[in-house]
Amino acid sequence: MQAEIITIGDELLIGQTIDTNSAWMGEQLNAIGMHVHQISSISDHDGHIQSALDDALERSDLILITGGLGPTKDDVTKFTLCEYFDTKLVKNQEVLDGIEAYFSGRGIPIMEANRLQAMLPEACTVLINTLGTASGMWFERNGKVVVSMPGVPYEMKGLMTREVLPRAQKHFKTPFIYHRTLLTFGRGESRIAEQIADLEEQMHAQGIKLAFLPAAGRVKLRLSSSGEREAQVKEKVDVLFERLRERLSDIVFGEGKTEMEEALAAVLKERKKTIACAESCTGGRIAALLSKHPGSSSFFLGGVVAYSNDVKMDVLGVQSASLEAHGAVSETTVKEMLLGALKLSNADYAMATSGIAGPDGGSERKPVGTVWVAYGSREKHFAVQLQLGSNRERIVSVATLSAINLLRQAILEGKV
Ligand code: AMP
Ligand code: MG
Repeated sequence: MQAEIITIGDELLIGQTIDTNSAWMGEQLNAIGMHVHQISSISDHDGHIQSALDDALERSDLILITGGLGPTKDDVTKFTLCEYFDTKLVKNQEVLDGIEAYFSGRGIPIMEANRLQAMLPEACTVLINTLGTASGMWFERNGKVVVSMPGVPYEMKGLMTREVLPRAQKHFKTPFIYHRTLLTFGRGESRIAEQIADLEEQMHAQGIKLAFLPAAGRVKLRLSSSGEREAQVKEKVDVLFERLRERLSDIVFGEGKTEMEEALAAVLKERKKTIACAESCTGGRIAALLSKHPGSSSFFLGGVVAYSNDVKMDVLGVQSASLEAHGAVSETTVKEMLLGALKLSNADYAMATSGIAGPDGGSERKPVGTVWVAYGSREKHFAVQLQLGSNRERIVSVATLSAINLLRQAILEGKV
């Protein structure tokens, strides 16, 4: 089944609003087995909307539209659809009651323009929007479906989840689709591909698709398959997913949408351990990740951003002799930073980073991209030197994830 997405709004075309709706809808449609083959953004103009619909109905079975449903004059989508489907606007009492309740509940006076939002095309199935005043509209023509939803992302998401996706699955009798994603860190995709070539063949033979999705330092491996029988599809994917996990066990840090810091958090929470950090080149990124999720305070005690040598010495207690003899980017310095963070916080574990993020500051012995990472406890700690290329943004982000991952692995292996 072919699907496409049309986002409507002048603001999308002049770079004022980024079209995040399409990305989210695309992911959701893909997950129910609808193949999205075009995404377009067009202006709030009736002629453009009509011609976009003409084109879309030629090639697609399901067309999802967002935007242009506000109460103001610049929003023309509803009127255009009414004309396009050759129907008239009629009052929908349920929607009107909802709009009145929406305003009285917030203590704001209702405007005539808001009441008019309850006037909806007679020919559509109205999809009740519980999060706002613009309703969704479901039109059918020769088995094809056109759905219009408001542009406000959370209202659109509510309508999609509650109404559009279940109806689309029913209407198009979509097959069951199953995805599982394995998350790896620290190995390039071509090396992984070589390492799992035989498993990839087995997947291919069983109709399981394998996608490599690389990001800084990480490669996601997504297995997907579809079929009529849910249990069968799940079983064959699960078996190969476990084989893949076993084969890549030294680089796997999780599955699905788990973030690296969540993987570390799980290990710390399970063992009731705490951590702290001391950061130079990562500039607080480690602390930002460790405090990103609710419940972080149960394991993350704090961090020091020690960018200058003075702060390294005055706050963390790094020895001036160490800095003179080895430099700020060295094993001795990161280990002293680590010990400083442990002393200040009394945490069980810590990690520390010091590196040359560039573009300046590199030398022949320590080129841009040289990063030292220390991790562990007061009694048992380690440091490794990483070489992370020449892109500043990437150096910082891979150094951050590496530090978190090194500590996570060391705890799991009982090294620290
Ligand atoms: P509208 O339904 O056209 O009144 O849109 C209301 C608001 O939703 C706009 O002002 C935008 O901020 C937002 N919006 C509209 N379309 C999109 C889109 N495709 N992606 C993200 N936000 C959007
Ligand atoms: Mg608009």
